[in-house]
Amino acid sequence: MLSIGDELTLGQTLDTNSAWISERLLLRGVRVDEHATVDDDTERICGAMDRLSSGHDLLVCTGGLGPTADDLTRVALARVLGVPLVEDAGALAHIESWFTGRGGMPPSNRVQSMRPESARCLENPHGTAPGLAAETERCDIFCLPGPPHEMQPMFRAFVEPALRQEPGRVTRTRIILTFGVGESRIAERLGELMDRDRPERGLPLVGTTASRGVVACRVRHSGSSEAEVVAALDAVEDEINHRLGAAVFDRRDPSAGDSPDVADALPRVVVSMLRDRGERVAVAESCTAGLLGAEITRIAGSSSVFVGGWLTYSNDMKTSMLGVPVSVLEREGAVSGACALAMARGALDRSGADHALSITGIAGPGGGSDEKPVGSVWIGCASGGGGAEARLFRFKGDRDAVRAWAMRTALGLLRLRLAGLDMKLLAEIERVR
Ligand code: AMP
Ligand code: MG
Repeated sequence: MLSIGDELTLGQTLDTNSAWISERLLLRGVRVDEHATVDDDTERICGAMDRLSSGHDLLVCTGGLGPTADDLTRVALARVLGVPLVEDAGALAHIESWFTGRGGMPPSNRVQSMRPESARCLENPHGTAPGLAAETERCDIFCLPGPPHEMQPMFRAFVEPALRQEPGRVTRTRIILTFGVGESRIAERLGELMDRDRPERGLPLVGTTASRGVVACRVRHSGSSEAEVVAALDAVEDEINHRLGAAVFDRRDPSAGDSPDVADALPRVVVSMLRDRGERVAVAESCTAGLLGAEITRIAGSSSVFVGGWLTYSNDMKTSMLGVPVSVLEREGAVSGACALAMARGALDRSGADHALSITGIAGPGGGSDEKPVGSVWIGCASGGGGAEARLFRFKGDRDAVRAWAMRTALGLLRLRLAGLDMKLLAEIERVR
């Protein structure tokens, strides 16, 4: 991987292209062993291209294909290939048509139709910069534009179909997603499944990554046939499910077409569980003030399962909107199990939904006490017929972290209820019914 651009080396833009491309390649059984980043300097781009293409079978470059003087990738590629730049008629036509109805092509964009004589242009449906593909004796070189929304479809269209698999070798991955248990506890339960020397012993390798409260267990295996590899992955997946139990909430099999993108997995699973049951949820949020509703409605199709909710930050609103008794607020305070239960029950009754989630807590940095320190959050869940419960959590971190953990944990709680499972969730310290 070669990332090109001043904005990357100066620290103004985070290089997400390398991570995205490397993960996609790994899913196809191609292991990336170097990420290089250079600024917009012809010498350095040439040096990196030359070195990486002589040591590898595949080089994917991103960036530097724009129309301005600092876009030097095509010049560098031509120099590395030892050929002149020529104008590509197809690319020029594409760029001209891109500007039809937009005031015509600015003269500076013409340079984007130039390609090294021995390279091919790759059509960019979402921008003006065509990609470039070239071959050296050893290496397939692809140059793609920097903006991720242009690069990603071109990677799928041109790079993935051209991957050369090691003959007779199949690599597959499986992703098992958990919520509610910390990464180190997950690793303890996985035990020897995470031993790094398993591939040498012909066994699937398991690794974990934690992001946004979700711990993903990634299982990777290579073998000589698809059937053998899939059977080994299935066996390890069964073992992981057995060891992690109720914490497992989703699985992805990228070779069967599942998305490897797991950033929104938790709300996605909750929405699809509700949809399968024909049920709906309402929310009553205090310290998260809308985060939970926003997270659920990130998922397309959530309108069939999300009715809406209340954003009751003050005590008055908790009473007037949700019917939380004044006596509860006076006796136990807004951050209490009784208040969380009353908020959830009030939201359930008033919304007509099948489930209601409530969140009330102290996000900090002020407002904490010895009895209720910053990070204390009560989360309630009430279901028609299913009763109500509230759990107290003590989340760590700053205000943003506490609010985000509260929102996710509410989703985790609803997921357990929908699945008919029970477990103590990460940071949970008390429960009331
Ligand atoms: P370029 O193709 O060099 O004109 O890139 C244009 C824009 O793409 C940059 O300003 C960044 O916003 C974005 N970009 C370039 N390289 C990367 C990268 N490696 N990761 C994420 N974004 C990038
Ligand atoms: Mg650039």
